[in-house]
Amino acid sequence: MRVLRRVFGYDSFRGDQQEIIEHLVSGGDALVLMPTGGGKSLCYQIPALVREGVGVVVSPLIALMQDQVDALRALGVRAGFLNSTQDLDERRLVEAEFLAGELDLLYLAPERLRSEATLRLLERGTVALFAIDEAHCVAQWGHDFRPDYLALSELHERWPAVPRIALTATATEATHAEIASRLKLQDARHFVASFDRPNIQYRLVAKDDPKRQLLRLLTAEHAGDAGIVYCLSRSSVEKTAQFLVQNGIEALPYHAGLDAATRAAHQSRFLREDGLVMVATIAFGMGIDKPDVRFVAHLDLPKSVEGYYQETGRAGRDGLPSTAWLAYGLQDVVQQRKMIDTSEGDDAHRRRLTAHLDAMLALCETVECRRARLLAYFGQQGPSECGNCDTCLTPPQAWDGTVAAQKLLSAVVRLKRERNQKFGAGQIIDILLGRKTAKVIQFDHDALSVFGIGGELREGEWRGVVRQLLAQRLLAVEGDYGTLVLTDASAEVLKGEHKVMLRREPERAARTDKADKADRAEKAARRAAVPVELPEEAVPVFELLRAWRAATAREQGVPAYVIFHDATLRQIATERPATLAELGTVSGVGENKLAKYGQQILDALSA
Ligand code: ADP
Ligand code: ZN
Repeated sequence: MRVLRRVFGYDSFRGDQQEIIEHLVSGGDALVLMPTGGGKSLCYQIPALVREGVGVVVSPLIALMQDQVDALRALGVRAGFLNSTQDLDERRLVEAEFLAGELDLLYLAPERLRSEATLRLLERGTVALFAIDEAHCVAQWGHDFRPDYLALSELHERWPAVPRIALTATATEATHAEIASRLKLQDARHFVASFDRPNIQYRLVAKDDPKRQLLRLLTAEHAGDAGIVYCLSRSSVEKTAQFLVQNGIEALPYHAGLDAATRAAHQSRFLREDGLVMVATIAFGMGIDKPDVRFVAHLDLPKSVEGYYQETGRAGRDGLPSTAWLAYGLQDVVQQRKMIDTSEGDDAHRRRLTAHLDAMLALCETVECRRARLLAYFGQQGPSECGNCDTCLTPPQAWDGTVAAQKLLSAVVRLKRERNQKFGAGQIIDILLGRKTAKVIQFDHDALSVFGIGGELREGEWRGVVRQLLAQRLLAVEGDYGTLVLTDASAEVLKGEHKVMLRREPERAARTDKADKADRAEKAARRAAVPVELPEEAVPVFELLRAWRAATAREQGVPAYVIFHDATLRQIATERPATLAELGTVSGVGENKLAKYGQQILDALSA
């Protein structure tokens, strides 16, 4: 507790942190499951400071080690790392520090621990604990690092008395069990945190004009904020980034088609500068611990709820209000079903992919609380209404779409039976709406008995019907043109044996205006106990502090959040402390930072 205040400048532990720390300090092993942003690092950093010796942290995220170590050094913690990016001299220096007992924490790439030389080095010093970060890397579906991670099971034999802690943000029970057995952590205590991220507002909207919708979100609600926009393909990443730049938003692309140097440069800018938008494929984000990512937007449907949750989890690690926004449409469903049909691998594999997609679609089309659905998916219980997702804030209506579904399905049936034809959603909808388009006339479709029977819904609503029937598998698509065909379940709908419940989108218009935003933020804050908007008079002070931080970060070549988090600057801007002692009580201001920056902050405030 004293270390928490003195070094990190925080007033209280979060969730299980204290219990985990005490367990580890007293020599016990632990397996920790916490969502991204839950505060896993403190769980091993504090015990490493308290116990005698050096805390050895195994992490595969080599590119981020420098930043992690810089952030710790800024707190006055003696940290170092050993990985392949260093030359021999740099390594020697760190090794000497380790042996001299001049380190509190040593970060290692996992492959280091397979070399006898490293193991012998560790034996010559004193190890306080082993922390195994991103522990899901040992799992079947794990990553390139798997062999290195599997070798970590031997740590226990060489250092039976040294406590080990394995940490992951992956939620599923199966992965959990696999980590325990692979790392020989059967006797470890398990700590499973709630996976809820109350400060993240989940919004899943129907696609209309996705780039414009995105732009509206960014300008109306997230002007000047850092965020990530996920797209499925490299080309849509490029196009979207370009579109944002053309519209005055600083955005950078990131995908596997860019060379390594460009990717590294973009990642580094995203981490270091304030308010950059990264447009990326899912190749971006693992291990990015930038705390002030204010939004994660998806322009394409993720392939699974797991993926979606991991990606959106990168928003709001600092606990401040953040947005997870997703736009999905008919075309997403068509495209993903097609991708599964043509994917490599056996039927079992395709069934798995289909199950993942179905779960994701069910989340999109639900009329229930998004958060409740998400938590239920991970086997956890949340509130039945969270008050901070789109369905809670602007409830959609569920409506009985049985008749509409029957009309649409009969149009598909007629075309097949009477004409032996198949068409995509566009033509079917034109027929239902009774539109005499060139293509309708060409195929003589205005002579069909179903022509014009669907005037009660607008075109967009019909697209919603098609999308939801696809999601519920009451309709299917096939071929390159996405033609609509019936499924086994369609017959029951046509016979009236299956009632079809659909989601009606709430009106969009009112959603992005300012009053509505404030209202939403307030509702969210009440539930999540997160700070609301800055008071009006504190805004210029906050901006001033941000500018000071940016300059200081640039000078030192570290990311801005290494100096102070947004949350800390906000509190300073609101409370305007007049003395060092007052400043020292602000959350996030520890002894070291107070000594280093305290006077500069006070000067800036009184200027
Ligand atoms: P994780 O590794 O679980 O994703 P981190 O360890 O990076 O999360 O912590 C997320 C953020 O929360 C960090 O910015 C960290 O400084 C902050 N944090 C962690 N514990 C606390 C606490 N007890 N009080 C305030 N902030 C905390
Ligand atoms: Zn909700």
